Order: sequence, then structure tokens, then C-alpha cells
Amino acid sequence: MKIKELLNRNKVNFSCEIFPPKKDTDFSEVFDVVDRIGELGADYISVTYGAGGSTSKKTVEVASYIQNQKQTTALAHLTCIDSTPEQIQAELAELKANGIENIMALRGDKPKDFTGPHNYNYAIELIRDIHASGDFCVGAACYPEGHVECPHKQEDIAHLKEKVDAGVDFLTTQMFFDNNLFYKFLYQTLAAGITVPIVPGIMPIINARQVKRSAELSGATMPARFLAIADKFSGDPLSMEQAGIAYATDQIIDLIANGVKYIHLYTMNRPSTAEKILNNLSHIIR
Ligand code: FAD
Repeated sequence: MKIKELLNRNKVNFSCEIFPPKKDTDFSEVFDVVDRIGELGADYISVTYGAGGSTSKKTVEVASYIQNQKQTTALAHLTCIDSTPEQIQAELAELKANGIENIMALRGDKPKDFTGPHNYNYAIELIRDIHASGDFCVGAACYPEGHVECPHKQEDIAHLKEKVDAGVDFLTTQMFFDNNLFYKFLYQTLAAGITVPIVPGIMPIINARQVKRSAELSGATMPARFLAIADKFSGDPLSMEQAGIAYATDQIIDLIANGVKYIHLYTMNRPSTAEKILNNLSHIIR
């Protein structure tokens, strides 16, 4: 099913993100993750795409397992920054051959030794190629606090509007820890004429390593309440896990209470985290 149709239903849509295995021998572990997330009743499962294309075949294989073995809607991520148009055409043909109709179209992070320009410099170029190649439902990324490379948030939103106008059916946000930043972003995007569904991406932070890495990778603001939790509990793994799950649960309850109809969990291949959060929301989400 196309995700734009799922998001159009009158219910809270719940989805999870996983990443493909690093080694060929680890597929069964990832398939187990998919099985457990499938049992939670996720409306769709997204599969990330490794930089450099090294795991690209693995993304398709995991997405195909979700779509064809589990009969759950799969969203395959695809990046373009270090691909040629011929490689992208081959990827699209493979997705089509596997019955995958939803693609998260991304530029990918610039490699460290980037001198540019590349065949693809922005996600919008990939989105145009995807639409020229078939009847795919296309998602794209957005950044409530602005993308790190763009110095001015209004300019970032103007680029986002161009990207959506090129044929984006829904957006998924970068992680955020302060819902007010997301609500402000919703107003800003609406004012810019962006009307496609915007799915908030929630990252449960359940260990000390994640606290540091998430701030570094995403540039997301860590509110005082979150920092106090990390400060108090990050030395005690079980307490940090419990507090991180409670924080993510609170964020989701607040989003739904404010009328948000979509929740995307960055599950990081830990189905038990998703299970615990969903247990906390058993009446709220279903
Ligand atoms: P773009 O939309 O191309 O934007 C990149 C930057 O270029 C922005 O600063 C934008 O303002 C600017 N820009 C856009 N158009 C123009 C223009 N015409 N002129 C000048 N500047 C412009 N990475 C992976 O490698 N694999 C994944 O699976 C993956 N999944 C992700 C999922 C989500 C939900 C999110 C939020 C991010 C994900 N990423 C992933 C990270 C993403 O690849 C990076 O954030 C990347 O740096 C930007 O990708 P983009 O598609 O948002 O780029």
C-alpha cells in the first residue's frame, strides 16, 4: 500500500525505522527485528540506506522481506549524493521488481572529502528521477530545527517547499526532543504552503552513548528536562532505559493530544524499546 494512503486514514499511524545488517550473515537477526515490530502492528516499517551504497542491496532485501514475507508496507530509503544516474536507475528497477512502492528520497550526507559537484547535489534531483521512473510514493526528510548545512531556517524551508513541489507525498522529521520546536515548524511549513503530512520522528534515548551521539549527529536541542534525566541516570543503564522510554512516551502523548496523527519511532533495531513504548500507549494509539 502507498504510505500517502495510510497517512490519510482517520487513525493514529504508527511506524518504525530499522537499519539493514552490516554483514550478510546477520540477516536473520534483522528479520527477527522485523517480525517483532510486525507483531506490534506497525503500519509501515522503513529501512535505512547505508552511505556509499555499500548496504544498498541489503536495504532492498530487508524491505522486500517486510513487503513480501510479512505483508507489511515497506519504505525503502535511497540516497543519491555518491551515485550515478545509472546506479539510481538500477536501484529503482530492483525496488520495482520487489514490489516496493514507497521510497524515502534522500541526498545523504556529503562525504568528508567532498569537492563536488556530484551527479546529484540535492534530494530534489533524485525525486525527479524517481517520478520519471515509475509510480512510486515518495517521502523526504525535513528538519524542525533547520538542516545543519543551511545557515538560515527560512532558506531551508524554501528549499523544502521546492522539494515538496517536485513530488513529495509526505515528510519525516529529524529527531527532536522539544515538541514546541516541532509545533513551530508545522506553523512555518504551513505558512510556506507545505501541506503534505509531516511525520514526527521520535528517537527514544535509552543509554549514555546515545545521549552524546544523538546530539552530535542531529544537532537537536536537548531541553533542560532531558539533560537533567541524562545527567541523573546515564551512569545507570536500567534507570536510563526506563527514563528514556518515559520521555519518548511523554513526547508521543503530547503530540497525539495536540492533534498529531502520525508517529515514527527510530527503533534502532531494538524492538523491545518499541514494545515498551507501545505498552505505555496501548489505549492511546489503538
Ligand atoms: P536535501 O533536501 O537535498 O537538503 C540538503 C541541504 O541542501 C539542506 O541544507 C537544504 O537547505 C539545502 N538545499 C536544498 N536544495 C538546495 C538548493 N537548490 N540550493 C542550495 N541549497 C539547497 N542518511 C543516509 O545516509 N541514509 C538514510 O537512510 C537516511 N535516512 C534519513 C531519514 C530521515 C527521516 C532524515 C531526517 C535523515 C536521514 N538521513 C539519512 C540523513 C540525510 O541524508 C542527511 O540529513 C543529509 O545531509 C540531507 O539529506 P536531505 O535529503 O534532507 O537533503
